[in-house]
Amino acid sequence: MGGQRLRGVIALDGPSGTGKSTAARRLAERLGAAYLDTGAMYRAATLAVLRAELDPSSPAAVPTAVAAGIAVGTDPVRPTVRLAGEDVAEEIRGPEVTGAVSAVSAHQQVRDRLVGLQRDIIHEAAAAGGIVVEGRDIGTVVAPDAPLKVYLTASDRVRAGRRDDQDRRAGRTTDLASTLVAVRRRDELDSGRAVSPLRPAADAVTLDTSELDLDGVLGALLALVAERGLAD
Ligand code: C5P
Repeated sequence: MGGQRLRGVIALDGPSGTGKSTAARRLAERLGAAYLDTGAMYRAATLAVLRAELDPSSPAAVPTAVAAGIAVGTDPVRPTVRLAGEDVAEEIRGPEVTGAVSAVSAHQQVRDRLVGLQRDIIHEAAAAGGIVVEGRDIGTVVAPDAPLKVYLTASDRVRAGRRDDQDRRAGRTTDLASTLVAVRRRDELDSGRAVSPLRPAADAVTLDTSELDLDGVLGALLALVAERGLAD
């Protein structure tokens, strides 16, 4: 690995299909940093709600989501997600969870609980070096003091195409038209919710990835890290 090491926190926010997850993992790897996928935590909480056969948008779902034993590993090469000790990395990417996660993550108490866990993980990792954190509210709520905040965007068609490819590669049945509808619906829910809506922090750098491949995104992020003097 190249000798660069990140100091502090990098916040990567944006809607799904912007290349955020892959770029965040690769960036963390390149910078010898930890990686936190906060979306995986909301997805694991949602899986707990669905397994309990509760309505994700009902307040009755909150205690189950809040009490769910969620544990995430922060190694960017092998990130892990566990629910009460069980590896749920695959299951949380399925259509049931994807369709319900925006509703579960709109509950204030669920967010309070998960933001608390996220801050503990970030605090620990940042003390040991650096951490790249991805989500929807990292720059605005979870880590507002992060020295670099990037808001990734891309057109909804490009994002739906990427999501579709991902699903296909993972062996899930999919079609582009319904993926586009689902992407738009999730954008609306995530941006329109009262609590911590998806939006760029005032001091975030916006990066449009519509015309960029992974190396292009990574290059742009590494340039920002260098510009801010965040790596030794
Ligand atoms: O990033 P991913 O697509 O896995 O996120 C799943 C969902 O979790 C998002 O659509 C959003 O509803 C929720 N989320 C959130 N805040 C975060 C990360 C994800 O509300 N920081």
